[in-house]
Amino acid sequence: MARVALVTGGQRGIGAAISEGLKAAGRTVVASYAGNDEAARAFTERTGIPCYKFDVADYDACAAAVQKIQAEVGPIEILVNNAGITRDATMKRLSRQMWEDVIDTNLGSCYNMCKLVWDGMTERKFGRIVNIGSINGQAGQYGQVNYAAAKSGIHGFTKALAQEGARASITVNAIAPGYVDTEMVRAVPPDVLEKIIAKIPRGRLGTAQDIARGVAFLTADDADFITGSTLSINGGQHMY
Ligand code: NDP
Repeated sequence: MARVALVTGGQRGIGAAISEGLKAAGRTVVASYAGNDEAARAFTERTGIPCYKFDVADYDACAAAVQKIQAEVGPIEILVNNAGITRDATMKRLSRQMWEDVIDTNLGSCYNMCKLVWDGMTERKFGRIVNIGSINGQAGQYGQVNYAAAKSGIHGFTKALAQEGARASITVNAIAPGYVDTEMVRAVPPDVLEKIIAKIPRGRLGTAQDIARGVAFLTADDADFITGSTLSINGGQHMY
């Protein structure tokens, strides 16, 4: 039977490409989202991939959703923690709420989701977890103290959890995308974006498919020896 993959934030942007890439790789894919029902409906109509709505920052909501998905679709063997948000501001304007929202949604969600699938993966002695970090978690970024801290945390989280999973054939890896052409990046002012692209040796923004290819690679059944790594997919912008 096809392995079940859950992609958080998997119905639009990078997550949608990841969901479709995993489906093309023969997985039974389920996507989650926060509130954009229209995008979810259109995505399911186009791809046949079901979408479940819950807040990845809310542990109880995650627990209820994981239980429902596992009852309806099957045990989650592949988990992609992709859901994320930005709330950019320099320290002068960075409120406690903006800090917490970004930490809870980007990093707290990795704890919530990994915690909830961990026992099952350990018992079945198989698991593939990919956490989506960011170039800005590796290099920092002006006006993104909260986001850079959360994404940098994801990279440490990944390396620590990989050590715990290795004996049970659970691999835990991260991908650090550079700037990818999605709504998140389209929110960046055009003059700033132009300067960013000028710094990318490849000379273009990444595509969601560039990231999806990395996820399919890291979650393959025979990718058993790749764990605790961070795959940078950034057009050469930051060689870490
Ligand atoms: P988008 O803003 O296009 O999509 C974000 C996705 O996450 C949506 O599906 C959204 O659901 C979901 N989401 C947001 N908050 C929550 C929440 N609290 N609970 C559940 N789901 C949530 O983002 P991208 O596709 O651009 O980014 C995807 C990932 O890649 C993020 O982790 C981001 O930080 C990371 N990344 C992106 C880069 C880029 O250049 N775009 C660069 C580096 C990293 P809904 O549609 O319902 O709102």
